[in-house]
Amino acid sequence: MAVWFVAAPALAGSVSNVRIWPAPDHTRLVFDLSSPAEHKVFALSSPDRLVIDLSGAELNTDMGNIKLDDSPIRRIRSAKRNQNDLRVVLDLKQSVKPKSFVLKPNDQYGHRLVIDLYGGTVSKTSEVTKSVEENSQRRDILVVVDPGHGGDDPGALGPRGVREKDVVLAISRELQAMLNQKKGYNSRLTRKGDYFIPLRQRTNLAREYNADLMVSVHADAFKSPQASGASVYALSKRGATSETARWLATKENMSDLIGGVGSVSLDDKDDVLAGVLLDLSMTASLKSSLSVGDHVLRSMGRISKLHKKRVEQAGFVVLKSPDIPSILVETGFISNPVESGRLRTQKYQRKMAQAIYKGLQGYFDESPPPGTYVAWSKLQNRMAQGATYKIERGDTLSEIAARNRVSLNDLMQHNGLKNEQLRIGQVLKIPAS
Ligand SMILES: [Zn+2]
Repeated sequence: MAVWFVAAPALAGSVSNVRIWPAPDHTRLVFDLSSPAEHKVFALSSPDRLVIDLSGAELNTDMGNIKLDDSPIRRIRSAKRNQNDLRVVLDLKQSVKPKSFVLKPNDQYGHRLVIDLYGGTVSKTSEVTKSVEENSQRRDILVVVDPGHGGDDPGALGPRGVREKDVVLAISRELQAMLNQKKGYNSRLTRKGDYFIPLRQRTNLAREYNADLMVSVHADAFKSPQASGASVYALSKRGATSETARWLATKENMSDLIGGVGSVSLDDKDDVLAGVLLDLSMTASLKSSLSVGDHVLRSMGRISKLHKKRVEQAGFVVLKSPDIPSILVETGFISNPVESGRLRTQKYQRKMAQAIYKGLQGYFDESPPPGTYVAWSKLQNRMAQGATYKIERGDTLSEIAARNRVSLNDLMQHNGLKNEQLRIGQVLKIPAS
């Protein structure tokens, strides 16, 4: 038996509600408390159980209707202990690593005790991802879609119980499906269900997946219900500068970053040079972010009013990947009765996802990352549309072939030439290499 955690001064209170948020790598249990309570968490084996002791607390809710389907918990029991303490026992399907902490009240909830169970999550569906393109020269463009908020963090709240976390998850899922259906694209979500992921972890996931782009999906709120329209954000110059400083300050992050910058290694560089390299990377992604943001904004403008006509810039944490272009899309104002009424319908969610999708595609058609299928097929198209060359004095057929990376034979066949003789002004069709 090991005691994992003891915290917070004792104060008598009651547990008014218990929520469960199953995530892919852990399951979160949240106890709503009327006041902070001292707690103790320990595990017992054969059979596997987790015991949560709350001193001076009593249970004021029925835990019988908590949905335990996708969790490692088989059953939740509770009992009074020592007259005034509460003991909650989780009967487990397998052993877990618990982590517990307390949260102070916010807009939504009061005092909370959070227990995260790691390592025992039962995943119902195995993830379907597109098979990686065999030819490394034609890899898929990977777009990481990040639905904002989740779990105990509902985001903006609108009339008739519309919650940002639900709307943005639905739009993100639609967007992911559209991207996955398109040849040359692959998409992954940072969160796939109703649970919370810390902001830094979202950017870390994008880096881990080697994303070409990160799109964070949100919906706005404002005190005035009149505010309306969609907008797009990229990182601000100031946010970028302070982020560069932060990365440089935390040396242990450096090696992490290098993977994303490609062949650039910061390990063996002195601090000044590392700073310059990092700054270049940040500036390059910022330029791309603004460009992709512009495409998305214009595309959204065809189906929605725009809150601002240009890509805005702010210091949002989810945009702070120094090496991955990132945008944050506000799909509309959930505080506006008309827009929130629209945003809650599947039809409009699909329309919005389609608009973002079209914007992304427009950007990538224009500037496909090298080595991707999209870059390759763009080149093919250009060739197919008839790249031609007009013969000038001194040209030789073999030199033209070499310059265009085609074989002499192909070049001759493609133009129906029987010998290598050329005349000035003659137009050759260049075959695809
Ligand atoms: Zn939000």
